[in-house]
Amino acid sequence: MKNLSNRDKKHLWHPLKQHQTHPESLAIVKAKGCILTDEYGNEYIDAIASWYTCMYGHCNDYIIEKTYQQMQQLDQIMFSDFTHEPAIKLSEELIKILPNNQNKIFFNDNGSTAVEAGIKMALQYYFNKDKKRSTFIAFEDGFHGDTFGAMSVSGLSIYNGPFEDFLIDVKRIPTPNGTNNVEVLDQVSDLIANHSIAGFIYEPLLQGAAGMKTYDAHGLNDILKLFKSKDILTIADEVMTGFGKTGKYFASDYIDTKPDIICLSKALTAGLIPMAITSCSQHIYDAFLSNDMAKGFFHCHTYSANPIACATAIAGIELLTSKDIQDNIQDIIKSHNSFNEHIKNHPKVKTTRQLGVVFALELDTKTERYGGLRDKLLKFFMANGVFLRPLGNTIYIQTPYVITKQQLNKIYKTIEEALDIV
Ligand SMILES: *Cc1c(COP(=O)(O)O)cnc(C)c1O
Repeated sequence: MKNLSNRDKKHLWHPLKQHQTHPESLAIVKAKGCILTDEYGNEYIDAIASWYTCMYGHCNDYIIEKTYQQMQQLDQIMFSDFTHEPAIKLSEELIKILPNNQNKIFFNDNGSTAVEAGIKMALQYYFNKDKKRSTFIAFEDGFHGDTFGAMSVSGLSIYNGPFEDFLIDVKRIPTPNGTNNVEVLDQVSDLIANHSIAGFIYEPLLQGAAGMKTYDAHGLNDILKLFKSKDILTIADEVMTGFGKTGKYFASDYIDTKPDIICLSKALTAGLIPMAITSCSQHIYDAFLSNDMAKGFFHCHTYSANPIACATAIAGIELLTSKDIQDNIQDIIKSHNSFNEHIKNHPKVKTTRQLGVVFALELDTKTERYGGLRDKLLKFFMANGVFLRPLGNTIYIQTPYVITKQQLNKIYKTIEEALDIV
């Protein structure tokens, strides 16, 4: 099995990679619980749950068992013409845990297309009411995915540069931080007065790709209230924050004003099978009801509501809502609190951030998103058996909920040691 890394180079093109300067990709041959094993037998703790997906641990036995049962029953069926119990049951289970204004579940197959569908829902919502609205508002530094609509509302330039001339119209506002709330609100009022705003899209409370940046919940609530009062749709991108990461089922649970539309993916299917969902409130759905066929939502992905992925998602929700996992989440939060107290005054640490099981530490140095220091840190972590993937000068932890105390301590210790090399 050796030498996978060399065979990789022949035909494969990896995402988010400059192959000329970074030709190597490490081959992982096995993952179980929180442990990744490479082709040479080295083990690494997966401290970011493989991009926040495998929250119940890799190859979780319960999830695999439930998925396997479904595989023997019904594999794939077109969801435009048929329905099936896994989709029905998943919609029922999701509606139970989603913010209580959510009432309809629409399927996609990745986070970007969940956002894409949310954007299209908002545009067509007004179109169907004979109103033309074309501009979105989004936060600076937000990340919502890589398809054109999702890319347009994202604010991270390394992803968007070559495509800027082809994006939909988006106005950007800073995140409210407690001291600028009034100014941000004024800016929103101005934008609403001067443009035909269709919607506001946001990562609630925590901007993941921007470096796990947190912001002010009251400020966000005020913005959402203003949009609501002006009949402008709000879209919460919970692709990263959903399913317990923030300590509640959804980050929107911390905010009084609920979004009209919510985008979900990543932990939705526990890292086993790709799937995504765009949920919405009843009044969005109602705007698509008509005797006119063309007022329906003509957006579809071939694998919409794939029964196997639905079964996986149902099993994931069972685990998420179990006492064991909820207890684990609280234990991780406590553990992060202590580490935070211990590390936050370290001379190399500029600031720390914590929300739920997400802990981030910003180094007191400047570094490019994919710069040399970031590479050096990544190498150091891997050499010490921990997979952590710094975002620029931010090191963050977001482990599976099933991480052991001992594994967490090893992650903390490795981060502390890494501060000596920066
Ligand atoms: C990852 C992510 C996306 C994109 O999801 P993909 O499945 O990678 O397309 C969108 N929004 C947020 C907040 C994300 O973290």
